[in-house]
Formats: sequence, C-alpha cells, structure tokens
Amino acid sequence: MREHLAALARLGVDAAAVRRPAELAAVHALVLPGGESTTMAKLARTFELLEPLRARVAAGLPVLGTCAGMILLADRVEDGAVGQETVGGLDITVRRNAFGRQVDSFEEDLQVAGVDGPVHAVFIRAPWVEHVGEGVDVLAQVEAGPAAGRIVAVRQGPLMATSFHPEVGGDSRIHALFLSGAGLT
Ligand code: GLN
Repeated sequence: MREHLAALARLGVDAAAVRRPAELAAVHALVLPGGESTTMAKLARTFELLEPLRARVAAGLPVLGTCAGMILLADRVEDGAVGQETVGGLDITVRRNAFGRQVDSFEEDLQVAGVDGPVHAVFIRAPWVEHVGEGVDVLAQVEAGPAAGRIVAVRQGPLMATSFHPEVGGDSRIHALFLSGAGLT
C-alpha cells in the first residue's frame, strides 16, 4: 500500500489509504494492492467493504488491481480457496499462484501496450489471466520462458489489472496509464 501511495504521489495524485466504507465513499479511483487475496476478501467482508466495493465498481469506479488485487477484481478464479469471494467486475478468469513453485517469484522486462519502453515487472506468487471476456483488452503478456504468452495485464473500461507489482521500483508509468485510461488525467 505504501509503495502505491508513493507511486501516485509522484504523479501528483492526492492519494490516501482506504480502510473503511466512509473512506471508500470519498475516493474517485482505487488501487487494490497485492497481498493475499483470500485474506483480503475476508477482511473486506469483515470490515463491511465488500458490498460497497461491488456497488462502486458496478457504478463505474476506476480500479487498478495488482496481483492479489487482480484476483479480487476478477469475475472468476481458478485454484482459489474454497468459497473464495471476489469483488468482481472484470470479465476475466485468473489462475491463482499460476507460475508454480519453481518460478513462483521472478522479474522480467515486459512490453505493456500504452507504455513507452519496457516495464520492469516483479511477479510474487502471481496469478495469470487464463481467459478474457470480449470487452477486455490484453495489455501485456509474458515474453520469455515456460510461461511465454501468458496474459499478465488487462484493461476493461475503468478497470485495469496487472499480475505483477508496478508499485515496486520507482516507476509510475503503469499508474499513469491507469489514470489516463480512466479519464482522470
Ligand atoms: N498469491 C497471492 C494470492 O493468491 C497473491 C500474491 C501477491 O499479491 N503478490 O492472493
């Protein structure tokens, strides 16, 4: 969360942490960060954020989901925990912990549609996108290795998601792409 706040601050965004329904109601856009998607969904329900999140996404709130945040935005999850809930809204199927034990965390330079030059992408027990619905644009795919071709960044209107952690490493271009695609800059 701290790194996302810093990435947004570098872009001049007035960003704040959202932990309560009243804080959610006050924002014009949201980042769902990485972490543990099952825990995050449970906490969101416990803190009465899950239904408000669903309502705001349905009403068109721009949301960037990264890693576990991508899972939370997905309409469908493969290899989820039993009964794992998501916020949903993004018409994709994600596979949790998709890259497997051997290479579960790795870094790779990726081409991302809409970003000039390669993006250094950090994957940490990341999901990949198994299937995209018709209205979803693919922004990036793994370029090398056994997972080559796997979809790792997508956009559907105001919703954008990455398998990797764009907040790591001081590069705000993914956040800038999210904001411009959502019509916020
Ligand atoms: N593996 C985590 C999950 O399933 C995601 C990891 C991450 O966000 N870096 O939620």
